[in-house]
Amino acid sequence: MRAVLSIGSNLDDRRSLLQTVVDEFRAETVAASPVFSTPPWGVEDQDEFLNAVLIVDVDTSPLDLLRRGQGLEEAADRVRVRRWGPRTLDVDIVQVIRDGEEICSDDPELTLPHPHAHERAFVLVPWLAADPDAVLRGTPVAELVAGLDAGDVAAVREVPEG
Ligand code: ATP
Ligand code: CA
Ligand code: CA
Repeated sequence: MRAVLSIGSNLDDRRSLLQTVVDEFRAETVAASPVFSTPPWGVEDQDEFLNAVLIVDVDTSPLDLLRRGQGLEEAADRVRVRRWGPRTLDVDIVQVIRDGEEICSDDPELTLPHPHAHERAFVLVPWLAADPDAVLRGTPVAELVAGLDAGDVAAVREVPEG
């Protein structure tokens, strides 16, 4: 099955935390977005988020994939500097496609597609960069991005490598 993963981090070693996910899925990755930054909203003493999207072909069930992501989140929590601090690593499953069909589930443990993906610029902009032909619930992701607030889209900026 093919899955779209949205990964994010807002600790100061956030790039290497994202890299742990890239490394875990390297052999199964079919496309990856560049890294994007999203300025913090509301809470100002918080680092910018770094976000990226990976598209992977995996030979497991959606729940096993969720658990793999959660294992990476747990590993990242071990380097968390302060309790209740900003999220070190978040691995969300945006979409799963099996036999050409988008899997839909309202299971709270794994809701598919991710219930907020369609309205989040920090998910859709990287996804579009990884797959210009992406479709979510029958709507091209390019169309979803075009329908978002332009300021929200512009705030998700590609960051140079290195
Ligand atoms: P959001 O899901 O709105 O982005 P979050 O990522 O901060 O919020 P978490 O605390 O990371 O939320 O996850 C809470 C629970 O969401 C997890 O325990 C997981 O079982 C569940 N969950 C449901 N659907 C998904 C999904 N598509 N991808 C990842 N986790 C999911
Ligand atoms: Ca999330
Ligand atoms: Ca999550």
